[in-house]
Amino acid sequence: MLHALRSTHSTRTIVGLAAALMIGLASPVSAQQASGTALAKVLVLGTGGTIAGQANARAGNAYDSGKVSAANLIAAIPGIDKLAQISAEQISSIGSQDMNDKVWFDLVKRIRAAIDNKEVDGIVITHGTDTMEETAFFLQNVLDTDMPVVLVGSMRPSTAIGADGPANLYDAMRVASAPESRGRGVLVVLNDTIHGARWVQKTNTTSVQTFRSPDAGPVGYVDTGSLRFLAAAPAKGAKLKLPDAPPLPRVDIIYSHANMDAAEVEDAVKRGAKGIVLAGVGDGNSSKGAIDALAAAAKQGVVVVRSTRVGSGYVNRNVEVEDDKLGFAVSLDLNPQKARVLLELLIANGITDPKSVQQAFAQP
Ligand code: ASP
Repeated sequence: MLHALRSTHSTRTIVGLAAALMIGLASPVSAQQASGTALAKVLVLGTGGTIAGQANARAGNAYDSGKVSAANLIAAIPGIDKLAQISAEQISSIGSQDMNDKVWFDLVKRIRAAIDNKEVDGIVITHGTDTMEETAFFLQNVLDTDMPVVLVGSMRPSTAIGADGPANLYDAMRVASAPESRGRGVLVVLNDTIHGARWVQKTNTTSVQTFRSPDAGPVGYVDTGSLRFLAAAPAKGAKLKLPDAPPLPRVDIIYSHANMDAAEVEDAVKRGAKGIVLAGVGDGNSSKGAIDALAAAAKQGVVVVRSTRVGSGYVNRNVEVEDDKLGFAVSLDLNPQKARVLLELLIANGITDPKSVQQAFAQP
């Protein structure tokens, strides 16, 4: 049934379909319905991921990402039509390990159109978990809206026993349709927890409790019966311009390790990297050979940002590395993959001098 209903790049109003699939299933009456208020309109944009995954016979736990359309994922969730008037479109059907500038630009185009035409009250994006934090942070830095934009995925494919996708999607719908979610930046919802785009990270390869915000904590909690935001002020992002078409400027991440020489940095420069993010050891450190090569790259006009492979904590300026003298910026609380996204956008906007780059990284 799910396969037969699969749609690509098409809009589908879900409510009727969902209702048809849910005959006989009890669903709670929403507060909005009880009070007679119109349901919020939410657009679901499917991109793929495990949430849309289907089992593959090659191994007991094997599956292929991005096989089920967002429309069919919604249609299979009892009671979700009581939360919002839902429509769904497919932007891509990929595992998020293949996420790329084209899909990002397509997402922005569609979301901006929905905002400009006042089509909806909220957006849900179904997405693989591998690079969800990068897409969330990218959107946060280019979308200028108070409308809730919520990314959701799952750790188990839709065909798994105990699939977490339906509950996550239900939660995401509750967040995206709620007025109290407005003005909180781009959000990530998994496992009953709401995270802010700046802080969220995937931290476990397989557990359903994989997303955490090590430096800030979650921004809220949601479940089938409640939605609670904590007091923390949301980060808003830099609000940078997007070029007319992809690709964004090339920024490479160099992973630091023991016994490291200059080769990786020099190779990145040879490949034409306009920026380099160091996934440094500790407080964004690296070997003398690598730091010297980064300093040489910076002298040639490559923008260098020191981040860390550690997974939490801020990278500080001028502690063991002479950032002022060498012309480096530091990523502060941004992990290497998010530092890369921000640096791509900054370079695309012509912001390349270390001082301005540093200021942009400090912008919450
Ligand atoms: N590889 C998958 C993806 O990111 C993993 C997931 O969605 O959990 O698309």
